[in-house]
Amino acid sequence: MTARIWQATIAALLPALTVVGLARAAAPDTDPLSSYVTSISAQLDPRVAQTLVQLVGTDRQLLALRSYLWSAPHLADRWSWTQEQIEAFEGSPEQRDLQQEIDRVRTAFVAANPGFELYVNSQVRSLDVQIEHWNSNESVKAAAREILAAAQALILAPGFPTNRPEQAREALKAFLSGYKPVPKPTIAAPGLSLHGQMRAIDFQVHQGGRVVAGPSAASIATDWVAAGWAAKLDAAVREASNRFVGPQATPPAPWHYTYVPEATAGD
Ligand SMILES: [Zn+2]
Repeated sequence: MTARIWQATIAALLPALTVVGLARAAAPDTDPLSSYVTSISAQLDPRVAQTLVQLVGTDRQLLALRSYLWSAPHLADRWSWTQEQIEAFEGSPEQRDLQQEIDRVRTAFVAANPGFELYVNSQVRSLDVQIEHWNSNESVKAAAREILAAAQALILAPGFPTNRPEQAREALKAFLSGYKPVPKPTIAAPGLSLHGQMRAIDFQVHQGGRVVAGPSAASIATDWVAAGWAAKLDAAVREASNRFVGPQATPPAPWHYTYVPEATAGD
């Protein structure tokens, strides 16, 4: 091929390349909220940005970012354990103490409700699992849609400082920090679940391996309230242990109790 043919080929390709180039340059403008999410998260603990990129859609990212801003002062203490920390917990005296408290509750429950048993998943809920839940949970999906619509309205409002990136970022931050999600998500933003440090326990009622009352919001009215398992579980928890606080009231989760280890009680 001669140099002239090459030049002709390149010239023929140029318009196409230009179109691709423009499309790339225009991409951030099509989703300004996404670039604000990136710039706000860059100001927070690095684990926030690493987690946000794994959340599907700017809407779910905004909803999680709201939680991270809200918990910013406690983020380091609260952040879910790494695989290394999970392994260190396994077989530790802390794990033994927790298991002992759970066993007490189970024994009390079985004594009061013959034929039924209490099941507890004693696995720490890893960050990966929390991310998966955030990407698939229905309450998160609904709340994410709402916060996206509200954030879009904010940045399109006449007074929004679109042309001053720092002010725009701060305005969105202030909005997110004060925003109350509707509906309230039934799970914590990835990294912030108390299950990620084994500071929360979900009890389930089983009978012969079958779930009688499980951790699902749709079953609260029937299985937990009408069938009475919420009250029966709570009675067993209170009778057997003083290390569990709960159950979670908002959003309602009659199976979910916070665990307060002896070492931190009275903090
Ligand atoms: Zn829970």
